[in-house]
Amino acid sequence: MKFCINSGTSILERRATEELAYHLNLIKIRGIENMEFVLGSSAAKRAGINPNELKGLGDEGFIIKRIGNKIILSGGEKTKRGTLYAVYEFLETVLGFRWWTPDAMYIPQKPKKIPNQLNKRIVPVFEYREALYINHWEPKWSARNRTNGLWERYGGGVPPEWGGHRKYACFVHTIIGTLIPVELIKKHPEWYAIFDGKPNESQSCLSRDDVFHATMAGIRKILKANPDAEIVSVSQMDNHIYCQCPKCQAIDSRAGSPTGSLLKFVNKVAAALEKEYPHVSVDTLAYLYSRKPPVGIKPRRNVIIRLCTFECDFLHPLSHPNNHTFMRDLKEWARICNRLYIWDYTTNYAHYILPHPNWYVLDKNIRIFRANKVRGVFEQGNQTSLGGEFAEMKSWVLAKLMWNPNLDGKKLIHEFLCGYYGAGASAIERYMERVYKKAIEIKYYAGSNAIRECLRKRGYPECKTGAYLDLNAEPTAPWLTPKVLIDGLEDFEEAIKAAGDDTTIKKRITHARLPLEYAVLLRWDELRKYAKHNERKWLLKPVKKEACNEFIKKCKSAGVTRLGEGWTGRNLQWLKNECCKGKGWK
Ligand SMILES: [Zn+2]
Repeated sequence: MKFCINSGTSILERRATEELAYHLNLIKIRGIENMEFVLGSSAAKRAGINPNELKGLGDEGFIIKRIGNKIILSGGEKTKRGTLYAVYEFLETVLGFRWWTPDAMYIPQKPKKIPNQLNKRIVPVFEYREALYINHWEPKWSARNRTNGLWERYGGGVPPEWGGHRKYACFVHTIIGTLIPVELIKKHPEWYAIFDGKPNESQSCLSRDDVFHATMAGIRKILKANPDAEIVSVSQMDNHIYCQCPKCQAIDSRAGSPTGSLLKFVNKVAAALEKEYPHVSVDTLAYLYSRKPPVGIKPRRNVIIRLCTFECDFLHPLSHPNNHTFMRDLKEWARICNRLYIWDYTTNYAHYILPHPNWYVLDKNIRIFRANKVRGVFEQGNQTSLGGEFAEMKSWVLAKLMWNPNLDGKKLIHEFLCGYYGAGASAIERYMERVYKKAIEIKYYAGSNAIRECLRKRGYPECKTGAYLDLNAEPTAPWLTPKVLIDGLEDFEEAIKAAGDDTTIKKRITHARLPLEYAVLLRWDELRKYAKHNERKWLLKPVKKEACNEFIKKCKSAGVTRLGEGWTGRNLQWLKNECCKGKGWK
């Protein structure tokens, strides 16, 4: 097909040109031979765009405009990703392309017509958007779906030739090990936190000048090595320990929370860094003991607070009574902090591969973040193995919502299921509704004792109505009744049948069914008994050993290496050992 692209020559404009041409060549557009696509701010101005229209677009905003036969796709004059994003927005919302996964996209089949009226100006609500699902750590997918995260520790983040990303110099749990070398703090045991009256090497004191200077030295070193970083994280280690020395305690008791000494320290770092690195912000966590905002101290203007939803109930939206203390903290942080980010949890970490019915809160929660002035969202998924429960769907849906929080989550899920699982979509949708309905009607706390204990200690309510789905729910969760599991397997059987001869779709559905098989394998005797008693058809192999081997084979074909986060020790061998324990192995 013939068409004309008029573009600048920057690395971003070249990529935008290539991507536009690649996609336009895949479809039919009526009258395209008479059209001219104008990419980037210089070309846009030559084509008659008033320079004022390109102001205020920031790093990622853009305009999409039709003037006669010219289609203008342009970011601002100093844009980082805007022009490339304009191309993707045009391809997705005007022409109908979808990029489900790095290997699967939807190409519109019917001939298209470009509307006569086209006039959009978009600046994303969230400046930072990341869904941490390993299956989508791929520059092309990230850029096309407009996520700008780093996955830096794992693969390098979105590279400059795909628009780059919001770069952290170091990401999380940084004070000991990343900023202050372990060998150094070991030489200064007086730097350790005092907890329960004793020095504790898993956290540092934050009221000491020597700890401050050592941290600053670490930051300078790391920023020197990462000159393009925009954020440096000065954050607590991943545990419940915090310093209770007289100095820290005095600050914390005034602040009403251990967040007091932490934020005072982070503010001091941010003040010291501001002149030297005016373009770098200092990030810290509001997590576990520091979730509660302090009284009388506000984050400095160059501080980012990343508030974590760690203890929340993910079956219900954050506005539900089960989550009311989180909402209280969110609102207070929104009041005192001008740059609030969220660290959200969107899978089951104890069992990556277990039905986790948080599907219908994803959009609601993102809208709650927006309503509370949140500026960055990090959606943690299964980042240590492929093949977590609906990982492909969740990362796509989350990417869409972080880009445009107005979208309807259920519609997005429906769209993904139809696009990715083809004719199997409606049976899978029925399965999801089935699990969700059961979960919502049961009053039960499903999760780890550690989180439950943590909720109790801090006076967080753990369950008001309906189930409380925390991020470590167990396969014995009561909504996974034998009936739900067996009905679910039947739904998937139907989905596979509906896929007919399409081997790609069949394979995807087979992988999506693994969470159900996993639950059945771990509750084999109970399920066998139920099926026999209720005369239900048995849809797995009848011998446990064979069913387990079959499951492992499918996991391997889906690239699943872990069944839970590292700390759980749950991998394929673990499952085999678990399965051997019960009756009926052979
Ligand atoms: Zn202290």
